[in-house]
Amino acid sequence: MSETVRASCDVLVIGAGAAGGAAAFHLAAAGHHVVLLEKDAGIRVKPCGGGMAASVQNWFPFSLEPAVEQVIREVDFSWCLEDPVVAELPGDAPFWIVRRERLDQLLAEQAVEAGAEHYRGIEINQVERDGNNWELIASDGERWRSRAVVIADGSGSRWPQQLGLGPKHVQMASTMSVRLEGQGNLADGTTRFEFGLVKQGFAWAFPIAGGVNIGVGSFIGKQDADPDAVLRSSCPIWASMPLQASANGDNCASGTVTIDWMVTVLWWLEMQRRSVIPFWQKA
Ligand SMILES: Cc1cc2nc3c(=O)[nH]c(=O)nc-3n(C[C@H](O)[C@H](O)[C@H](O)COP(=O)(O)OP(=O)(O)OC[C@H]3O[C@@H](n4cnc5c(N)ncnc54)[C@H](O)[C@@H]3O)c2cc1C
Repeated sequence: MSETVRASCDVLVIGAGAAGGAAAFHLAAAGHHVVLLEKDAGIRVKPCGGGMAASVQNWFPFSLEPAVEQVIREVDFSWCLEDPVVAELPGDAPFWIVRRERLDQLLAEQAVEAGAEHYRGIEINQVERDGNNWELIASDGERWRSRAVVIADGSGSRWPQQLGLGPKHVQMASTMSVRLEGQGNLADGTTRFEFGLVKQGFAWAFPIAGGVNIGVGSFIGKQDADPDAVLRSSCPIWASMPLQASANGDNCASGTVTIDWMVTVLWWLEMQRRSVIPFWQKA
């Protein structure tokens, strides 16, 4: 374990997801010396539907299009596969489906173009105040020092609570998603949202290049709810599965993709058993 200070800068950003990459880009573009730290050594496929308002483009001076897979003009809502409501999105307000890992990568690359330093494979374990500076201590013992810190390590971050930031009672929802090959009858430019099949939640189907991203989510309640219980009730088989790697909040533990794949396949089989048509294939 080394105790050396690896770098001193204006701002250290913990986490190179969408939030960290965007913060690093804007801070670097404003002339600050920024260091963006990411624990994953390589690019990770994150469980995410990738649905994003196209107006997010207004926040960036570079094109986000390299990350965009679909421009959605029609949103198809149903209740228990019936009662369809189709919303046409006006020309100037489409909804984008982005490939999430590509978006994160694009933002980090643009941050580097703007002058930020980006290091992967650095996991921050401790955040400490040292006089007027912050010190971040990584799992290899190395210290990183800065005048300011941006905490962008996802919704499961422990730092806000430890540093007394943010809401006292965090409300969580559970969600999981998978990418399937082939689009079935889901047309390009159309998404589906199904309410009713998933008690206290919803399911979605988003087209992506060569496939479809499907997922289910529970709504965030006003009281402390057990979001996993909602998903368990949608998928009885899930109840008997270990949940330590399940999608908890909107930030999934690594390895969740594999578990999500299994869960959704089991969910699909369960639906078949109950003779419920998978909603993303409805006529
Ligand atoms: C199944 C699912 C579907 C979703 N669908 C949508 C959707 O369609 N549209 C939408 O807008 N949102 C969606 N979300 C939510 C969206 O994915 C999150 O809001 C988004 O990922 C948050 O981005 P972030 O940058 O804050 O965090 P993250 O993307 O979680 O990034 C945090 C980064 O920090 C890194 N990190 C964590 N700990 C450390 C550490 N100690 N040191 C260094 N690095 C660290 C992580 O590796 C990660 O890269 C979905 C979420 C899930 C789970």
